[in-house]
Parts: sequence; C-alpha cells; structure tokens
Amino acid sequence: MNWVRITKHWKIPAIGSIYFSTLAPKLSFDFIRKIQRNYGMKKIVILTGAGISAESGLGTFRDEGGLWAKHRIEDVATPEAFARDPALVHRFYNTRRAQAVQAQPNAAHLALARLEAGFDGDVLIITQNVDDLHDRAGSRNVVQMHGALTGALCQVCGFRWKAPMEMRPSDTCPACKKQTTRPDIVWFGEVPYGMSVIDPALASADIFASIGTSGQVYPAAAYAQHARRMGARTVELNLEPSANARDFDQRFLGPASEIVPRWVDDLLTA
Ligand SMILES: [Zn+2]
Repeated sequence: MNWVRITKHWKIPAIGSIYFSTLAPKLSFDFIRKIQRNYGMKKIVILTGAGISAESGLGTFRDEGGLWAKHRIEDVATPEAFARDPALVHRFYNTRRAQAVQAQPNAAHLALARLEAGFDGDVLIITQNVDDLHDRAGSRNVVQMHGALTGALCQVCGFRWKAPMEMRPSDTCPACKKQTTRPDIVWFGEVPYGMSVIDPALASADIFASIGTSGQVYPAAAYAQHARRMGARTVELNLEPSANARDFDQRFLGPASEIVPRWVDDLLTA
C-alpha cells in the first residue's frame, strides 16, 4: 500500500489558520472506480417457487392427480413423518429425485441465468424449489432455502454429502457411520436455510421479484413486504395474483416461460 500526505488549511475569522495534516492510503484509479461501481450497483433479489419448475414437469402439493396429491404434507414432509415412517418418506423423495433428474430447465430458468451473467449489478436467486434446475440453467448465485434433492444429511452429526439416487433408512452416514441419514430437505416446521444471506439481501435490494410462488408459505411469503418496506420496487410474475398480491408494485401474469424472458430482456436493455 502506498501512502500520501493530505494537508488541509482552514482560515477561521478571529481564530486564525488551522492546519490539518494526515497520511492516507494512495488509492489506484482502478480501486476508486471499483468502489464507485459498487456504490451505485443495482441489486436484484428474485424469489422463485413451484410455478417456475411446474413448466419443467415437476409437480407440487397443489397439483391434482400428481405425485404429491397421493400424499398428505404431514405424511411425507415433516420431521414427525420421517420419525414415524422413514421408508415411506425416503421412497417419496427418491421418486421426486428421479423426476428432477429427468426434468430440464425451461426458458424461465435460462432467462434468469442470462440476467445474472449480463446484468451490471448483483442478482441473487432465493428458491423454494428443491430441484437443481436453476443450477443446471447456469445461475451461480442461488440460495435453496428449502434444501435440495441432491443432498443427504445426517440427523445426528449434521454431515452433508451428495445424495445417492435411492436413499434408504439402512444407509449409513459417511462421517459417523450411524444409520441416521435423511434427505437434505427443510420440512414443514423446520428453519429454512440461508437466512443470514437472505435477510441482508432483502434489506439492500433495489428490485425484488417473486416468480411462480403462491404467497402462502412463510417466511418466503413475507419477503416482498419486507423488501418493499426497505425500499425495493417489488414485481410479481405469476400465473395468477398470489395471496400477498398487495405487496407488489408491478405484476405480469402468464406462464413463467413466457413472461420471465420478456422481463429479463427489459432489464438487460434498460
Ligand atoms: Zn453422521
């Protein structure tokens, strides 16, 4: 680090002259430009939900006739359900994992990856989805707040590893060797992942967009209201207005694969 002496001289009537002198780091032009760019940098925070993966063929609890419709939430997606019948819960997530592997990112996932690559600012995706379609589309700044089908977790020691396609109650944890492995999914009643990243991101967002979420699952349903209070412009992209529709300044209705690429194009050409 190079240092430079800065000297200031004030003339104050009736007192005389005051000199102020100090050493300060000599900043390179590149460094100053980096600070200026970061200071003015726009931040976009995007919350995605089931609606964006539905167009890749992945269903939700609310789809009639789908995989989820055959099970009640309390039978497959709570810690109590897993304690009661781990084999059933593993079978359920094994099926979902197999479906997610077959699914391909759609135009909406690809558009968001294009936004992250081409936008002159920060783009963070917070997804409620447990598939890896954002990742496979090319997005790098992704928080999977409800966990991931690709992950396995030890209930005893907390070790995480890549889940095999088929998980069973008899699987052993690679770290502690106990038969206490579970899908790395945040079940109902558990604390979502990434809150230490999500909270400051909402507070500093210039734009908050919600894509394909019903606005019924908390805490994610409160993110739009929180981001808006902290100064973000809020945008909803959805098939129909969500339960928290009043929290949005702007709304685009339609299939995600159509409205998201258009919205991204507008942002990139603005
Ligand atoms: Zn373990």
